[in-house]
Amino acid sequence: MSSLLDTLLAQATGLPSVATSNTHTQSTDPQVASLGWPLNRPPDSELAPPTAQQDVFKAFSNAGFPQMTARVCRESFQSSDAFCIWLCYSDLNNEYGNGGWGPTPLSPTPPPYSIQPVSGYGLGIVANRPIKTGETILIERPIAIYPANITSNSMHTNGQWGAIEDMYETVFPVLGETEKSVYMELWNCKPLTGTLGNKFTGIARTNGLHIRFTRSQFLPSYAGVFPSISRCNHCCGPNADTSFDEDTMSMRLFALRPIAAGEQVTIGYVVTFLPAMFRQAELQQKYLFTCECKHCKPTVASTPSRPLKHPYWASSAGGILSSVSPSDQRRCIQIAFRTEHAQKMWVEWISPSSKDTDRAFFDFHEDALVVLAQEGLEHTRIDHIAYLAHGCAALGDADGFKRWGNVLISLSAWTHGKEGVLQMKAWQDWVREPTFSPAWGLRVRSKAKGKQKCLA
Ligand SMILES: [Zn+2]
Repeated sequence: MSSLLDTLLAQATGLPSVATSNTHTQSTDPQVASLGWPLNRPPDSELAPPTAQQDVFKAFSNAGFPQMTARVCRESFQSSDAFCIWLCYSDLNNEYGNGGWGPTPLSPTPPPYSIQPVSGYGLGIVANRPIKTGETILIERPIAIYPANITSNSMHTNGQWGAIEDMYETVFPVLGETEKSVYMELWNCKPLTGTLGNKFTGIARTNGLHIRFTRSQFLPSYAGVFPSISRCNHCCGPNADTSFDEDTMSMRLFALRPIAAGEQVTIGYVVTFLPAMFRQAELQQKYLFTCECKHCKPTVASTPSRPLKHPYWASSAGGILSSVSPSDQRRCIQIAFRTEHAQKMWVEWISPSSKDTDRAFFDFHEDALVVLAQEGLEHTRIDHIAYLAHGCAALGDADGFKRWGNVLISLSAWTHGKEGVLQMKAWQDWVREPTFSPAWGLRVRSKAKGKQKCLA
């Protein structure tokens, strides 16, 4: 296998049985982190749960080998029925929802979608009216949550999932009648191997979406099963994304691009930067289906759509270019390359010794937006839009900053919850007064410094 594909596979730190968003490869440079959200967020390699045996062991060891307990989530102590069973490690036993979780956060009414049969998919979520980019489609709470990493319990006759099945079976009756029936009607792609209990974990593992509880220092990754959002089918160019708020225990599903009435709402279950054959292998292994989206259709190999000059192409990509489909080329090479180099490019561009032209900087990110739109990977575009806005600010271009800042705001791709409110507020403030933005004048000042150096 080529070294590029090795790199791409190494980036695929996806969960073994939990749908995960795309992996961003950048680590956060302090000069980039100072630009604020979204460029200051930690790399996804840190956000994804560990998968290598020794990393999993280390996480458990650091957490003091916590026991798993079943937490019952209710709106208040007066509520008779629970809305969720949370199989939770003891480090979070006294965190979150201690006075009850409060009422369910409001979801749009009437809902802009319906759950209905979709040809080739079973049930799916379908828009019942046009949905705008950034619009919230629905907000809901999970019915079940389980840890992304579980300790192996060799004592149990049914292996490590056996213990979880037992816990589910014991606590399942506390759920409300609606939650119980909605849960049991969800799809189970895992084989039933004899015990009835398998169905609980089979449904959990088929429908779990990655969520994080950040108050756990070492084991923050869990998976949640949601009544409707878990009905979202997969596409390698998804038109929607999810964001979880740990304080209200709720997930928001929102549109990444305009969705037409009658169109299916989709999310990504696997790392979409990977070539189609690796995506297919992962989907087959975890969910037992073959994706037939347009990005997975076999297409003839072609040469790159633009000349690739960086040494990175020559060293690693050259050998495989002739044998990959145009979609794989765009995802695994053009998009992955830009994701990997965006930070370095910013740091270089704002330094007094920079050799890059302003045009090269803006082309790099504007081209990225074109390629991302071609591949339906809009969920990774916020970084490029943020760089374009900060690039304008660095040049002292208030109108340019406002233009890109407003684009970013319109996507409403904020982190859900309190953190998201702060992110939104910061961008709204900067758009109102661009001179307050963190990159204001950076390039102008460094160009002046560069000139002084030349004259000295
Ligand atoms: Zn596909």
